[in-house]
Amino acid sequence: MRNSLFLAAALTTTVLTAPAAVMADGHLMVVDEPLTLDVHLHDKSFTYDNNWPVELEAARMTGVSLNNVTIGNTPDSNEAFNLMLAAGDLPDIVGGKSIKDNVNRYGPEGAFIPLQDLIAEHAPNIAAVMAEKPEVFNSILAADGNMYFVPYLPDGKYGRAYFVREDWLEKLGLEVPQDVDELYEVLTAFRNGDPNGNGQKDEVPAFFRNWEEVLRLVTLWDGRTSGSDTYHDFHVVDGEVRHGYVGEGYKVGLEHVAKWYAEGLIDPEVFTRGSSARDFLLSNDLGGFTHDWFASTAGYNDSVAEAVPGFSFQAMVPPASISGVRMEEHRRIPVKPEGWAISFSNENPVETIKYMDFWFTEEGRRLANFGVEGEQYDLVDGKAVFTEEFLTNDRPVNSQLTDIGAQVRRGFYQDYNYEIQWTNEHALRGIDLYESGDYLIDQFLGVTFNEEEQSVYDKNWSSIRTYMLEKQQAWVLGSSDINADWDEYISTLDKMGLNEVLAAMQSAYDRQYGG
Ligand code: CA
Repeated sequence: MRNSLFLAAALTTTVLTAPAAVMADGHLMVVDEPLTLDVHLHDKSFTYDNNWPVELEAARMTGVSLNNVTIGNTPDSNEAFNLMLAAGDLPDIVGGKSIKDNVNRYGPEGAFIPLQDLIAEHAPNIAAVMAEKPEVFNSILAADGNMYFVPYLPDGKYGRAYFVREDWLEKLGLEVPQDVDELYEVLTAFRNGDPNGNGQKDEVPAFFRNWEEVLRLVTLWDGRTSGSDTYHDFHVVDGEVRHGYVGEGYKVGLEHVAKWYAEGLIDPEVFTRGSSARDFLLSNDLGGFTHDWFASTAGYNDSVAEAVPGFSFQAMVPPASISGVRMEEHRRIPVKPEGWAISFSNENPVETIKYMDFWFTEEGRRLANFGVEGEQYDLVDGKAVFTEEFLTNDRPVNSQLTDIGAQVRRGFYQDYNYEIQWTNEHALRGIDLYESGDYLIDQFLGVTFNEEEQSVYDKNWSSIRTYMLEKQQAWVLGSSDINADWDEYISTLDKMGLNEVLAAMQSAYDRQYGG
């Protein structure tokens, strides 16, 4: 059943149950005759699927179908890209995870088409988002100044937050810790005060599902660990590219983290327990404090409530650092190095960019975010609302969406409303708490190297990073002392070429951001 737009407008007070009523006038059609384009789109656990309901719906709306030719027998998207290159023929569209570096490397060599002119002429919806977020699109340009891919743009600001067992605080007569000293007191009380009430000193005061999050504690001593949502990344201060792991705050902070670890305030298995840490320690009433994602962490208030009576694990604002700064270093990045590009051998670049533009129209964006109308969601007052059946399915919402081809890393603009609908009240309250303060900091969106910078980086960075991580783990575990090691650590990094890497980052940064 199809309704005209006019009819749909006349029926706005009625909930329309007919699928996809918007298409009667074909205003999203990209071609007169059906067109099929080959696509390489790789993600770590799946590739593009010709039968995704979202693909079929997009084909119906635009007349363009994508045919999957991804080389997918590897979980590594970089390797898949290289296998595709080695095979010779580039498919019409190349996309998926981690394509930024690849298309920005091979684009200037002629493998991919620069997109600015095509977008200006044929893609008004992409152009509108570019005009809205110039700094974001600037960050994805290749070293030759061209844009070679349409990116995936995440939506929403908040990622991780600090969480504390409020029911434990109450049992021990404590308040939510407001600064680093109070946090130390609370963790010590969690260790000594038997808040889980079993008569054993078995509590794990601070635990981290991702071991890298233990490093995040250095921000409480004004140190830094990363400037983006990638661990161990560079960050920028007043136009200067720096690395946290040579900063004074890092040194002081890690010295204290080592002390907390030695005192049993931090999970003794923090480097080895792995991704099940949160699940295990919360389900068994053992864990007291962490730094992790809002929605999934708050979800334990629902899933653990029965096993642990009174369980309340709530977001808390970042404790103030030694200088009084409340900083949440992690946030969602506004653009990912993911999306899709048009290869030089594509014989329909205009139709292809129009098709890519479709995903930035109202209907296309809804399709990419929510799936198919009448299947996964209904339109209520012009807004996509997931069906009860979809939300209450056993399979996690994210996985269900990927299964049908929604929320996959084509170039698209995420709509945070897709996530709000399955974020529980505890998480929403926590987000409000963070919203009421100014805790987030600017993100480093990355640089694109020219050939010379790239060779400096390739030659030095990997071994420098490995050395930094080896040392920091030894310091946290107490097998080595950071104060005793520091001068030698800095001079070793000098010899390993850290300053050259920083200079390469800086010149790339200045070129990209006009520093
Ligand atoms: Ca106990």
